[in-house]
Amino acid sequence: MALADYRADAMRCTRCSYCKWIPFDLVKSSRFAKGCPSVDHNNFHNYSGGGRLVTYLSLLDGRSEVTDRVVDIAFKCQLCGNCDVACKVCRYDMEVLAALREFRFWLAEQGRVPPRYQAVIEGFRRRGTMLGAPEADRGSWAQGAGVKDLSREKAELVFHPGCRHSLGGGLESVARTSLDILRKAGLDVGLLDNGQCCGGRVYHMGYREEFARTAARVLGAWEDAGVKTVVTPCADCYHTFKHLYAREGSRVETIHMVEFVDRLVREGRLEFTTPVPLKVTYHDPCHLGRQGEPFVPWEGAEKKIFGQAVVYDPPRPRYNGAQGVYEPPRDVLRAIPGIELVEMERIREAAWCCGAGGGVREAYPEFNAWTAAERVEEAKSTGADALVSACPWCEQNFSEALRDGRAPVRVFDVLELVRQAL
Ligand code: SF4
Ligand code: SF4
Repeated sequence: MALADYRADAMRCTRCSYCKWIPFDLVKSSRFAKGCPSVDHNNFHNYSGGGRLVTYLSLLDGRSEVTDRVVDIAFKCQLCGNCDVACKVCRYDMEVLAALREFRFWLAEQGRVPPRYQAVIEGFRRRGTMLGAPEADRGSWAQGAGVKDLSREKAELVFHPGCRHSLGGGLESVARTSLDILRKAGLDVGLLDNGQCCGGRVYHMGYREEFARTAARVLGAWEDAGVKTVVTPCADCYHTFKHLYAREGSRVETIHMVEFVDRLVREGRLEFTTPVPLKVTYHDPCHLGRQGEPFVPWEGAEKKIFGQAVVYDPPRPRYNGAQGVYEPPRDVLRAIPGIELVEMERIREAAWCCGAGGGVREAYPEFNAWTAAERVEEAKSTGADALVSACPWCEQNFSEALRDGRAPVRVFDVLELVRQAL
């Protein structure tokens, strides 16, 4: 696709501003009704989903030109997808999120990206990871785990910890717990490229070519190793494998670790024996929730009824967040004795972003921290002792937002509580 392919979406946008809020029928209070961190923080229409469509339409039509402000507008956004869901639910079946991504590709191809991206992308090209950890430190969490090395051996299941879990930051225990559960379940599991990035985050930063090369390399290595299923505890990797790799032709089944644990609990193959006395609230990661829907191949045509109403023949898959992964993490938490689950107001497809997505953590640290702090406020309003998620990027962002120690809320990954309960 090219940016011009999204011209019709920009023309169709009525500037109604539904995309600045969570879907209206899910609003519970004015305090937590906003859905777009970008427009809330920047307080200017162009920083909303619809505003960005207007911005690129003006560029395509030659009515404006790329400036530093345009770059700021395109990239100061988490690509969290709330605008996409709100537009589809409240307004039109438009591909707002896909258009925002394409806007970034278009700018990145012209070398117009936030200055802070340079060091990140150079590191990714040199080391295959977004993070600066030296090669020697990669995957030290897996030492002694006794699993297959799929660069030399074969297995049908590969465990992909994700670079954020592999490369320090105190999050390695989630990877180790996951691997131990997979092995105890008697699965023939292996590791490949331990500590390498899936490429999803550079895709969202606008580097389409780097992503495509990474996907081709990983899919080739999986094929050589006979991999049929990938399991990951990272929501970003989950979305990358389940949706982005599927678009590149992958047929490898993708399972998030919370889905796997939920399955084991349901089948009576995993039992929680140690109470964890904690009142928790669960944060839906964007890439496991509303963007965690399976990719459905579609080929067809856009048609108009009476020259106006747009229909797709055959009907097009509608990615509106309804098929995201919402129940498995909640069911796992409810299955742990001692845990009481209370909900925030913005949940499931209406969840507020943690702030780290779309290259915001890398390029705009202050906006990133502000977005995380807003979610922490919402968690505190529930009276919960702990904010729990299923993504290392969310966990890291919330932990940093709480670093001043003022808030009486702790941060966990679901799998850290699973480990305590075993
Ligand atoms: S909700 Fe959709 S139609 Fe309305 S302003 Fe946003 S993008 Fe445009
Ligand atoms: S993707 Fe998220 S941050 Fe970006 S415009 Fe849409 S709602 Fe706002």
